[in-house]
Amino acid sequence: MRESFEVRDTDAGGRIGELTVPRAGTTVETPALLPVINPNLDTISPRRLADEFGAEILITNSYIIHGDDTLRERALEEGLHDLLDFPGAIMTDSGSFQLSEYGEIDVTTAEILAFQREIGSDIATPVDIPTPPDVSRERAAADLETTQDRLEVAEAADTGEMLVSAPVQGSTYPDLRERAGRHADGTDLDVFPVGAVVPLMNDYRYDDMIDVVAAAKRGLGADAPVHLFGAGHPMMFALAVAMGCDLFDSAAYALYARDDRYLTVRGTRALDDLEYLPCSCAVCTAHSPDELRALPDAERESELAAHNLHVTFAEIRRIKQAIRTGDLLELVEQRARAHPTMLDGYRTLLDHAAQLERSDPVSKGSFFYTSHESARRPEVVRHHQRLERLSVPDSLLLTEGTAPRSDEFDDSWRVEPPFGPFPRALSKSYPLTAEVPARTDRAALEAAADGVASLVATNPETTVTLAHEGWPAAVLERVPDAVALVDLTAN
Ligand SMILES: [Zn+2]
Repeated sequence: MRESFEVRDTDAGGRIGELTVPRAGTTVETPALLPVINPNLDTISPRRLADEFGAEILITNSYIIHGDDTLRERALEEGLHDLLDFPGAIMTDSGSFQLSEYGEIDVTTAEILAFQREIGSDIATPVDIPTPPDVSRERAAADLETTQDRLEVAEAADTGEMLVSAPVQGSTYPDLRERAGRHADGTDLDVFPVGAVVPLMNDYRYDDMIDVVAAAKRGLGADAPVHLFGAGHPMMFALAVAMGCDLFDSAAYALYARDDRYLTVRGTRALDDLEYLPCSCAVCTAHSPDELRALPDAERESELAAHNLHVTFAEIRRIKQAIRTGDLLELVEQRARAHPTMLDGYRTLLDHAAQLERSDPVSKGSFFYTSHESARRPEVVRHHQRLERLSVPDSLLLTEGTAPRSDEFDDSWRVEPPFGPFPRALSKSYPLTAEVPARTDRAALEAAADGVASLVATNPETTVTLAHEGWPAAVLERVPDAVALVDLTAN
């Protein structure tokens, strides 16, 4: 077990965890948001982030501080916590972003790590190579080798109690991301940022983002805290948490405010386009859109940044509650409806249902079938796996609804979309207690038919009869030929 991170609760790939930050003498509950503080200009002061927004941790850039004579001297003299006036944990970035933007920087990993330690950073970052998406495989592999060398430098460095992050790179090559995850997990470093995903999110490539995270997670151990580096839009937090991300950093709250953009969990709105403010935070209850627009620039920026942060922190709390309640995927389904590319992200998440199934609790409060994607959830995958282990009699009736038992068969099991067949004794156990719409859909029927096929495949000697309520021919094609069919709606 990694000493600094403990998972308390899980739902799908999402988890509530505790990150112990020894140098700050504090623990941070995850999923957590790290507001990004630019040491040269704070739209919202770090003290206010702690007091008003409950921020337990923030992130700032040690490379910017290192490169500015005044800031550097002050940071070395006063320490980062006094410089920023922030009581919580402080993570620092290393200049990797500047490296990716400008092609070179003037510090080495050893130098910037020593500097981060000197100024009192609680979680430091080595200088990794953020390889963008879609580069050649050769370049991605060569960059990754450099990043891995830097992680080894970081591992060898004298960093005391300071936690050190181990970025996972590999561009858009899942096998490289997985290998990078495995290598990072093998170091004694502490926090694992999945790097260089910002270009994917800027292009709304949530499907590729999920594939990248899923690959990194396969390499990383289940006890590794994962930071989705540069991801700050609340719209996609639930999706990313469900794939197993624990930490997010938001520069978005300030950058968007500067452009008069207003964040919501359903996307970004231009302040100019708003006639109403769909939010009840202190900013939005105190102002009308016209009043916000009429404020002087600096004040408007600060008010918008405050709203953006309120929305962002509220979504993190909503996600934590959803993990506790066990309805994180229901929340992801709602968020997925905000934008077609988010729906692509959710559908991609479900491509990894077997991977998510490993951390998904066996029992939760509720399973609400709220979209046809629900038919591909990890709970359905698990039920189909379980069918392979259930013992079956020589002849078995599988029947929908309340069809009476018959002496013709040794036993009669229920069939419910999307799960398929199960013994009646399991009717009251999760997830078979699911709430499903009365008007079922094709995906649920197909999943149920696949369940029948799965049962038959592992029990070829059993004679199976399926009594269904008018399943379409194309769905019944998924049921093996050996199964006798009875259409209950035929009379
Ligand atoms: Zn608001």
